[in-house]
Amino acid sequence: MEPPVTALPWPDRGVRTDRPGPADQPGPAAPPGPAGQPGQATRPRTVGPTDQAGRTTRPRPSGQAGRTGQPGPPGLTVRPGFSARRPAPPRHLADLDPAGRRAAAAELGQPQFRADQLSRHYFGRLTEDPAQMTDLPAASRAELVKALLPGLLTAQREQQADQGTTVKTLWRAADGAYLESVLMRYPGRVTMCVSSQAGCGMACPFCATGQAGLTRNLSTAEIVEQVVAGARALAAGRVAGGPGRVSNVVFMGMGEPLANYNRVIAAVRRLTDPVPAGLGMSQRQITVSTVGLVPAMRKLAAEELSVTLAVSLHAPDDELRDELVPVNLRWKVAEVLGAAWDYAAATGRRVSIEYALIRDVNDQAWRAEALGELLAGRLAHVNLIPLNPTPGSKWTASRPADQDTFVARLAAAGVPVTVRDTRGREIDGACGQLAAANADGQPG
Ligand code: SAH
Repeated sequence: MEPPVTALPWPDRGVRTDRPGPADQPGPAAPPGPAGQPGQATRPRTVGPTDQAGRTTRPRPSGQAGRTGQPGPPGLTVRPGFSARRPAPPRHLADLDPAGRRAAAAELGQPQFRADQLSRHYFGRLTEDPAQMTDLPAASRAELVKALLPGLLTAQREQQADQGTTVKTLWRAADGAYLESVLMRYPGRVTMCVSSQAGCGMACPFCATGQAGLTRNLSTAEIVEQVVAGARALAAGRVAGGPGRVSNVVFMGMGEPLANYNRVIAAVRRLTDPVPAGLGMSQRQITVSTVGLVPAMRKLAAEELSVTLAVSLHAPDDELRDELVPVNLRWKVAEVLGAAWDYAAATGRRVSIEYALIRDVNDQAWRAEALGELLAGRLAHVNLIPLNPTPGSKWTASRPADQDTFVARLAAAGVPVTVRDTRGREIDGACGQLAAANADGQPG
């Protein structure tokens, strides 16, 4: 399918910022309200149509069947294999804060301190193997592990690149949803790129994840488990370069993290709370990347977290951004950047402006100058990402000379700029390439 280039993909229907939680978990708070009314309860709104289960589906040319050939309502693609009522992911210790875990232990008729012991195994020793939990009575280990450490994700496939220092894992959740994470080891740091949703409803036409639509939000524990799995592999010396630790997490895998707001924030807390409450990572080493859901960005600024905010801008002008990041139909460049500067002011953190360079689409020198004008003097840094072409797209990365000019114009405007390396490109593990093809190469 050709991505829309000049025509707007659909009329402005607004954007959904969250969806109801699984029945057995505390539901998320009301989705952030529209601009100017952060946190106020509103009806969930959607970008593009949704199917019966409330999943956002990607529009297709009228009457055309989806990628899998499944017929759907005219103009819609409904992901196959998912019933309207899908089971919630099993409850897991990492979904709960320490008080919730103690309450869960009490519900099982166990002393509350068992919750801390179990947390120490999961977050501290990175184990969920009852045999290793010798501080727990043998008789109750299996029951505790079954109730609070259920298996959530099964590795379906692992691919390596960069001499084993980049590892992409395709995970299958209990309900059959697919998601991916990527571990990237650099000298002195290891970054886990994690998914916040199975699929994505934001439909950016240059992004592979955006092509298939949203399957569902991930639970907090499903997000955390991606990091814990990476930490385990590193601790066990299974990643090239010897034993190590996860130092950074970027929410740049599948999904729009701020559209799964409550679970993502809870995951950030689990990652950064000290052991045994969490993994004990530094908030400053966590990056949340967004298409620009303005009310959620404002809510994030009020959380008093020191996480880095990345904003996927990709164009300095609304005309082009409306096409590249369709949520721009709802929140314009000026509003998105306004929220970004407020985030910087509230947290003192430099905002990262993500800009995928697409040949002859957004890489003109005049656009670099326009971007420079928007960002000059701001607490911001531009991360240029050479476009990773996705299957079927007619777009490709910029010519080296155009990229150099773009960098030079930004630098001339006094804007700090770097070009991101394209780790994992050949295993489709680079930015925007996560499409969760399963072992047969079919979309998950
Ligand atoms: N939904 C979040 C996270 C997406 S992935 C967001 O949009 O920010 C992280 C980054 O990769 C985003 O900036 C996204 O726009 C970018 N990206 C997506 N597809 C890409 C591609 N094919 N090539 C390069 N960057 C891409």
